[in-house]
Amino acid sequence: MTESFIPPAKPIIGDDERAAVDRVLRSGMVAQGPEVAAFEREFAEVLVDGRESVAVNSGTSGLHLGLLAAGIGPGDEVIVPSFTFAATANSVALTGATPVFADIEPDQFTLDPASVEAAVTERTKAIMPVHLYGHPAHMAELQAVADRHGLALFEDAAQAHGASLGGRKVGTFGRFAMFSLYPTKNMTSGEGGMVSCETPEMVRNVKLLRNQGMEAQYQNEVVGFNARMTDIHAAIGRVQLTKVGAWTETRRANAAFFDRELRGVVVPPVADGAVHVYHQYTVRVPEDRDGFVAALKNEHAVGSGVYYPVPNHRLASLERFAPGLHLAETERAAGEVVSLPVHPSLSGADLERIVAAVNAVAGAGA
Ligand SMILES: *Cc1c(COP(=O)(O)O)cnc(C)c1O
Repeated sequence: MTESFIPPAKPIIGDDERAAVDRVLRSGMVAQGPEVAAFEREFAEVLVDGRESVAVNSGTSGLHLGLLAAGIGPGDEVIVPSFTFAATANSVALTGATPVFADIEPDQFTLDPASVEAAVTERTKAIMPVHLYGHPAHMAELQAVADRHGLALFEDAAQAHGASLGGRKVGTFGRFAMFSLYPTKNMTSGEGGMVSCETPEMVRNVKLLRNQGMEAQYQNEVVGFNARMTDIHAAIGRVQLTKVGAWTETRRANAAFFDRELRGVVVPPVADGAVHVYHQYTVRVPEDRDGFVAALKNEHAVGSGVYYPVPNHRLASLERFAPGLHLAETERAAGEVVSLPVHPSLSGADLERIVAAVNAVAGAGA
């Protein structure tokens, strides 16, 4: 094996990001300040059609603060997918509310509106879909369920910067939407999150919770956190924001190449009217997924990822919310999915190698 390893993800940090950080460090003012304010404005313009956005120190903080700002708390239920990163349900549980797990559809790995409707009870306050892997959830159908039962709709858009549905950007459907800025996401600020809000009241509440419950110094109105983003992180995020559109086009071109060339695996279906931004390019390998992953790595030096091998309702931390629950599509997906490298730093030769490796391994198993 002489070929170099192709990693499943690779953040791109360049000279521009380094210069931006240096500028902030030299200014001597590094905590939340003008860079954060500028990042919030620019993020809103570029990604959510101007919807006012509040920067926080992580995506998980963004979900937690968004839920609290929307009034979610003890006694409430919020319907979430189980097939997602644990932060989705963790943030609900941290408010004191109960995460209620619904199943995903057989195709796009996002919430099945029928399963959501079946999970509604008197205590249900909201539905929080995840635009998993960068594919928008079925927002029109979920909005219809929400309307029928008087529920709020929130969005976990951690993986979906720039995705859209029917020409409408994700992050503009929910009362709030959270975007993560963790290094492996489609753009990064180092660590960070952005909460895009539907109303001025939501903006104000998230800002209060972000900073000890105060708007004016020492006029604390509610009990809050320190969930502020630093100007150092915002400076990185501002540079990344100028590049994320081109990176997304590269991800989509890489995915189109895989769609045409891959054999022996189920390539990711895209819903009508959806623009998928391929945070992950996730195929299904129905037979011996773990053997497939090992062969890609050991025989072809191609990295891949399994997101997520254990559904949330089976995690030791969360199973108490759903004792004995069975979600057929979630459990099937957890056993079948493999995410291939699709990130914008892949070369043409890397793409050819990934295709050759997948086709060799999948073909060998057939
Ligand atoms: C990454 C991620 C989060 C959490 O974001 P952090 O910035 O890592 O806190 C939440 N939900 C989903 C679906 C994610 O992928």
